[in-house]
Amino acid sequence: MKAIPYSRQNINVLDLVTVMKTLKSNLITQGKKNQLFERRISTFTGSKYSLTFNSATSALFAACKALDLGPGDWLWTSSISFVASANCGLYCGANVDFVDIDQKTYNICPNELEKKLIQANFLGKLPKVVVVVHFAGQSADMRRIKLLADFYGFRIIEDASHALGATYYKNNIGSCTYSDICIFSFHPVKTITTGEGGAITTNSLYLLNKMTLFKNHGITRNPDEFLVRDQNEIWNYQLVELGFNFRMTEFQAALGINQLKRMKKFIQRRRKIAQRYNKLLRGLPVILPWQHPDSESSFHLYPIQLGTGESPGRQKYIYEQMRKKGIEVNLHYIPIHLQPLYVNLGFKDGSYPKSEAYFRNALSLPIYPALRFSKQRYICKILDKLLT
Ligand SMILES: *Cc1c(COP(=O)(O)O)cnc(C)c1O
Repeated sequence: MKAIPYSRQNINVLDLVTVMKTLKSNLITQGKKNQLFERRISTFTGSKYSLTFNSATSALFAACKALDLGPGDWLWTSSISFVASANCGLYCGANVDFVDIDQKTYNICPNELEKKLIQANFLGKLPKVVVVVHFAGQSADMRRIKLLADFYGFRIIEDASHALGATYYKNNIGSCTYSDICIFSFHPVKTITTGEGGAITTNSLYLLNKMTLFKNHGITRNPDEFLVRDQNEIWNYQLVELGFNFRMTEFQAALGINQLKRMKKFIQRRRKIAQRYNKLLRGLPVILPWQHPDSESSFHLYPIQLGTGESPGRQKYIYEQMRKKGIEVNLHYIPIHLQPLYVNLGFKDGSYPKSEAYFRNALSLPIYPALRFSKQRYICKILDKLLT
C-alpha cells in the first residue's frame, strides 16, 4: 500500500494548463497575474490591500520591518509554531521571547500574555510586535489580544499560514479587524499552494507601501518618492532603502488564482475529514482538537494528544509504529524555544510547561482534501490497536 502523507497538495488539469499558458506569455514575473491574485485575496479575506511574496517567511520579515522592528526591540510569539514565526524577529536584529499556549486551543494564551505584559511593563521591556499564530487553522483569541495591544501599545502580526479559509466571529481570517498585518503561506501542505509562496493582507496603505518597497529591493519607480533629481539625467528608478527580492513569479500567481477558486471546496473537505476523525476516535484515550464555538477552523492540521502527563517513549513508539504501517503522522511542532539555535540564545526546557507538555503528547493525523474515508478508517484502526 502507498504511504498516506500527513498533507498533500491538490493540483488539477486546469492548474497545469494555466501554468503552461502563463509560462508562454510575455511576462513571467512582475505582470498582471500577481495584481489579480492580490485583488482576489483581498476580496476573499475582506482586507483593503494584499501583497504577494515568494514565501510566508519573507512576508513575516517584511511585516516586521514595516512595523519598524529593530535592535533593542522585542518580538513575542508562541513556541508551538513553525520556526519562521520567531525567526522574523531575529532577522530584524530584535530580541525574541515566547508566551505559553492555551491548553485547549494550543494558541497563544491571553492570560499568559497579560501576565507577561504586566511584568514586562514593570521592567520596561514591552514587546513592539506580537506574532499571533492561528494554530492548525483555528483563530487565536483576537478580541482579547487586541484589547491588550491597545492598552500596552504593541502591534499585531497574524501568522495565518494555517488559517486561510478560517473564520473568527464570522469574519474571514485576513480581514485584519484585530491586527496590523496578516500573513498567509502557499507552501504545498497549506490550504492552497503556489509551490512556494505567501501573501500579506493589511488595511493600512502606509504599511502596504513600506512592504512593497521592501520586497522590491528598496527600489521605487514613483518620481514622488525619488530622493535626488537632476532633470538632465535618466532616473527611471531609485534605490531609496535596502530591501530584498521577495517577489512571486507570474506562473505561481496564476496557479494561486486557480487554487483560490477551489479553496472553499478544500476547506469543506478538511472540515468533513475532521468531523469523521472526531467520530472515529470517540472512545479512544486521546484528546481531540477542541473547537471554539465562535471560530471555524480551516483544519490545516488535525492534532491529537495521546494523553496529558509524561509517558516517556509512548509518543515516539506510536509515531514510529504508525509510520511503519505507511501512515505518515507528524509532529507539529517541536517548541521553537527548544531548537538548538534558541537554546543557544538562552531558552530552557521547563520555561513554557504547557507548550512542552503538548509537544511530548501530540501527533498530527493525515488531513488533506483527497484523503479517503477508507484510509481514515484504516488510520483509526491502527491507532486503536496501538492504544488499547
Ligand atoms: C508554513 C509556515 C510558515 C512559513 O511558510 P513558508 O511559506 O514556507 O515560508 C510560517 N509560519 C507557520 C505557522 C507555518 O506553518
